[in-house]
Amino acid sequence: MGTTYAIANQKGGVGKTTTAVNVAACIAEAGYPTLLVDIDPQANATVGLGLAKDLEPSIYDVISGDATAEEALRPSDVDGLTVLPASPHLAGANMELPRIAGSENRLRDALEPIKDRFEFILLDCPPSLGPLTVNALVAADRVIVPVQTEYFALEGLAGLLDTLALIQRELNPRLTIAGMLLTMHDSRTRLARDVEREVREHFPSLVFDTVIPRNVRIGEAPSYGRPVIHHDPLCAGADAYFELAKEVAARA
Ligand code: ADP
Ligand code: MG
Repeated sequence: MGTTYAIANQKGGVGKTTTAVNVAACIAEAGYPTLLVDIDPQANATVGLGLAKDLEPSIYDVISGDATAEEALRPSDVDGLTVLPASPHLAGANMELPRIAGSENRLRDALEPIKDRFEFILLDCPPSLGPLTVNALVAADRVIVPVQTEYFALEGLAGLLDTLALIQRELNPRLTIAGMLLTMHDSRTRLARDVEREVREHFPSLVFDTVIPRNVRIGEAPSYGRPVIHHDPLCAGADAYFELAKEVAARA
């Protein structure tokens, strides 16, 4: 049976999508059948893997019950990596889901029939703790929390951990934290080094050993619709995501 990871943090721009896309690509290239589910209405993961953001059916149709997950799967250019794309319609789900009793289980139930086909399923969450992220956390076994090594990094983390504990208690007892991931790290700055130390001190044993550096190639890869390991396999960013994928797989 595969393992499902939600990539979550209510802050935007911390590297959730970049991590979802690149960990998924590295794990798939290592030979594990992998599914990336894009549940952010911005559809950045979908576009970052070279797919259009108006494909139908999308995860919106799946969550609405108008299509099965099976029907919405799309192959990607990465061997072994399948995508369940997002669409801008998904923004509507944030309004619709809270009105439907039991709607927090929708994603979990929709993925159930296809789960066994994949070793790893990654869920790229939107930058909020709204109904879509709750759906992801109910469907997930583990959470990866990307944390940008900048001044406000710790702010909001306590709230996120409270939310995770609440979901674990009320909705999904399986849920555990796979780890916090330091992203966009610039080891030349004292601030980044201080933040790294502080996060590791605050959350001992919860932070991945691998740190993702700030790397131009990581930033430009999505504009070519590909993960960094295809864009520039030898750059420091590709190295780091490979290392992280190994760490994730070893802990699965
Ligand atoms: P989120 O999904 O949390 O909103 P993204 O993954 O979209 O964050 O990252 C925000 C921006 O930072 C994007 O433009 C992305 O390409 C860029 N980015 C992410 N990680 C890195 C990195 N390690 N080095 C350079 N740019 C990065
Ligand atoms: Mg994102």
